[in-house]
Amino acid sequence: MGITIRLSTMRRLGIITVANSAVVTPTLLSSTTAFAGTLALPSFLRNHRLTNSVRFLESRNLASFSFSCFSSSSRIPALDELSSTKGYVARDDNQKVVLKGMSYAALQEWVESHGFRPGQAMMLWKRLYKDNVWANDVDELEGLNKDFKRMISEHAEFGALSLKDVRSASDGTRKILFTLDDGLVIETVVIPCDRGRTTVCVSSQVGCAMNCQFCYTGRMGLKRNLTAAEIVEQAVYARRLLSHEFGSITNVVFMGMGEPFHNIDNVIKAANIMVDENGLHFSPRKVTVSTSGLVPQLKRFLRESNCALAVSLNATTDEVRNWIMPINRKYKLSLLLETLREELSSKHKYKVLFEYVMLAGVNDSMDDARRLVELVQGIPCKINLIQFNPHSGSQFIQTEEDKMIKFRNILAGGGCTVLMRFSRGNDQMAACGQLGMLGTVQAPVMRVPEQFRTALKASV
Ligand code: SF4
Repeated sequence: MGITIRLSTMRRLGIITVANSAVVTPTLLSSTTAFAGTLALPSFLRNHRLTNSVRFLESRNLASFSFSCFSSSSRIPALDELSSTKGYVARDDNQKVVLKGMSYAALQEWVESHGFRPGQAMMLWKRLYKDNVWANDVDELEGLNKDFKRMISEHAEFGALSLKDVRSASDGTRKILFTLDDGLVIETVVIPCDRGRTTVCVSSQVGCAMNCQFCYTGRMGLKRNLTAAEIVEQAVYARRLLSHEFGSITNVVFMGMGEPFHNIDNVIKAANIMVDENGLHFSPRKVTVSTSGLVPQLKRFLRESNCALAVSLNATTDEVRNWIMPINRKYKLSLLLETLREELSSKHKYKVLFEYVMLAGVNDSMDDARRLVELVQGIPCKINLIQFNPHSGSQFIQTEEDKMIKFRNILAGGGCTVLMRFSRGNDQMAACGQLGMLGTVQAPVMRVPEQFRTALKASV
């Protein structure tokens, strides 16, 4: 039976009320949740299948949210159940493990726990990730002994994703749709580049809670985090499906659906699997994790991972950023940039990539360009100017190309390293900020500050 639960996080009052007479105090929610959302639900809520997203309401601290829960016998695992003291996770009732969610150490431990040698774990690992095998079935494990294969088929699953569709854009970009075990759908994009580089853009969540106003995925709200297996397998599938056509897939960007740092445990785990030199062996410099600016997780990432970092900046004042990226109400521009300045001072030859989606009349003035030069002073960085990708219902319009170039010139004149990125995969809704599918419940549109209303009217 469906029940609708509305949580109104009343931090000022110190209480959270739940409609069907349960009362949850903030202490029941994890104090480590940097951003109020779905991460740390009390256990009785975890046992319900979450549907149709967290909807963030406009509030000063973004702490209010509402969602629907439906009683379900097929429960999804709570996030804290997705880690194991054994290092590997059994997912279904038969306690089968999902191979692609395991680090090599966990895989080896699991193999040995079934009475096989560590060397056999390495043979399995290589067949999962290396040598153009990318095994997705026990029948593809050539060269492994029969008993080992029998054990694997009895106790393990290979994949966490089912291929649903592959759509080709006119510029060669591919959008791959996967169905998850619970029926939800995620999207992965493969972008070939004529300089011999092919990038796979992976999703880290189904939907996203951050509600960036220029992003289609943000309008979905958050449905759930992806497991490490579901993230890793997107990269494996991309190689399996498209390497013969595009050659080696060389780069990974965590810029698909979701805010990766809102799912940081699984993202760090997946990135570690992707860079393992006996496996997929992406260079850490070529695995880039992007964030909208979750400061505590950003610090953790810089300390725990050697992969590259991108920060989606998109504004030069708090006023604009509060509006187009509501996370800024929690972590202000000054805090975000000061944290980067401090953290990167101790890192050797490491540059953060600032992404800046250009929105006509909103963040693309020459004053913005000059402010941006000032804001990034002292931070080893590159700046990527990104052409806005329109989608149905969006209120923004693209900055003209010649204006982007003038903006770029001011940054370059100020000593910044600047790149420009134009739309890829637009005709298949595969471009940056266009992924996902909207349900009936959508994240709210934030109030437009008075002085930008004219600029947006031009887009209507
Ligand atoms: S831009 Fe990224 S963080 Fe922002 S809503 Fe879209 S997916 Fe989420």
